Amino acid sequence: MDEKMKFMPEPFKIKMVEKMGSLDKEGRKMAIKEAGYNTFLTNSEDCYIDLLTDSGTNAMSDRQWAGLMMGDEAYAGSRNFFHLQSVVREYFGFKHVVPTHQGRGAENILSTLTIKPGDYIPGNMYFTTTRFHQERNGGVFRDVIIDEAHDPAAIHPFKGNIDLNKFQTLIDEVGGKKIPYICVAVTVNLAGGQPVSIGNIKAVSELAHKHGIKVMFDATRCVENAYFIKTREKGYEDKTIKEIVHEMFSYGDGCTMSGKKDCLTNIGGFLCINDDELYTKATGMVVQFEGMPSYGGLAGRDMEAMAIGLTESCEFPYISHRVNQVRYLGEKLDAAGIPMIKPYGGHAIFVDARAFLDHLNQNVFPAQALASAIFEFSGVRAMERGIISAGRDIVTGEDHYPKLETVRLTIPRRVYTYAHMDYVAEAIIELYKKRRDISGLRWVYEPKVLRFFTGRFETINEELIKGY
Ligand SMILES: *Cc1c(COP(=O)(O)O)cnc(C)c1O
Repeated sequence: MDEKMKFMPEPFKIKMVEKMGSLDKEGRKMAIKEAGYNTFLTNSEDCYIDLLTDSGTNAMSDRQWAGLMMGDEAYAGSRNFFHLQSVVREYFGFKHVVPTHQGRGAENILSTLTIKPGDYIPGNMYFTTTRFHQERNGGVFRDVIIDEAHDPAAIHPFKGNIDLNKFQTLIDEVGGKKIPYICVAVTVNLAGGQPVSIGNIKAVSELAHKHGIKVMFDATRCVENAYFIKTREKGYEDKTIKEIVHEMFSYGDGCTMSGKKDCLTNIGGFLCINDDELYTKATGMVVQFEGMPSYGGLAGRDMEAMAIGLTESCEFPYISHRVNQVRYLGEKLDAAGIPMIKPYGGHAIFVDARAFLDHLNQNVFPAQALASAIFEFSGVRAMERGIISAGRDIVTGEDHYPKLETVRLTIPRRVYTYAHMDYVAEAIIELYKKRRDISGLRWVYEPKVLRFFTGRFETINEELIKGY
């Protein structure tokens, strides 16, 4: 048997199992209502299949669990830090590594040290916590992703690419001195997990460096990005995932990393920087907010798990199955005409809620309503990525109206099988038949920052799904 099957089975055996939630219909109706129609506020034990996020929800391997037992919990100079440092240097190629409790810890340090009020930070589409830290330090985020990324139906092999003209326009407008760095996310989460090509990274790096602008990667899903490069970009077919990751980062000056994604752990992150002076400043800051530069808010064992996880994540059978499992779900939904962002991304399927609920205006939060309805109907927990996540303009206080109004079905790594994907697809296809019965929502409580996490809503009609 060769490896030509369209969907190869899971490349792992199951050694430990975990029971899934099993609420009945009335229980689910009550649970989502009590959660204020916000899936973030539902309980894990009430979910049947939990596709809320791929962040920290990874199943660790036997080797990672063994690594936990090798934790060196010394306050300073833990051997697990040195292991992590050597793996990150080997795979990413950056000079300095500062561990942080998770990705946003690294974002906090980078943004605080490099952004002055009035600076601009271009990026290929915003990410919630990333933009929050940029704005918190007085920076202005500028979206420089290609136009195709904002169109759910546009097909482009590298839909996360940066539009060099948009980047150049910003440089002409404000000057390179007001742009401390460009943030290049690989892949682009909110665009649908869309990749960036090496060709684009190279061109961005040349333009940025010509104007004294640093290139800082959001490396969160860099392994998934490398898989797309291997399978879509000419000249990379025969390179290993590790070689591609290394080449991607060779064009940059550092990165922030959420280990909770492509390091296959449940917690952790780090900041990488080549610049010695910036690194010294980062060590000064990490002691204030995270801990010693040799643990950054993590236990020794967590750094060990992250070091092992990063190497496993770059193994081809793992990453190939990962991305293909997402595609499997995407193809099932697509065959039934469910509107979604295409091409399928690396970590999730993004259902186009605007098209799914075409009877609802964006100001009654179609994606929030659809995520709630999916939970009520099937026990599958997804999340809103639309107007609620986009938040308000910090200057005018007006809502951002993002073009993409989506529900993200995010697949945790190594947790679910193809059979689970079949259930998810069937549930959403059934719900699609009742889509006109789904009610819009309105605010009950709107938090000031990162409102999607804890905001609460009520239905506009009497029931969330009429007659269900
Ligand atoms: C998750 C994520 C982050 C933040 O990382 P945390 O570990 O959740 O703090 C940053 N950027 C992207 C693209 C992410 O998906």
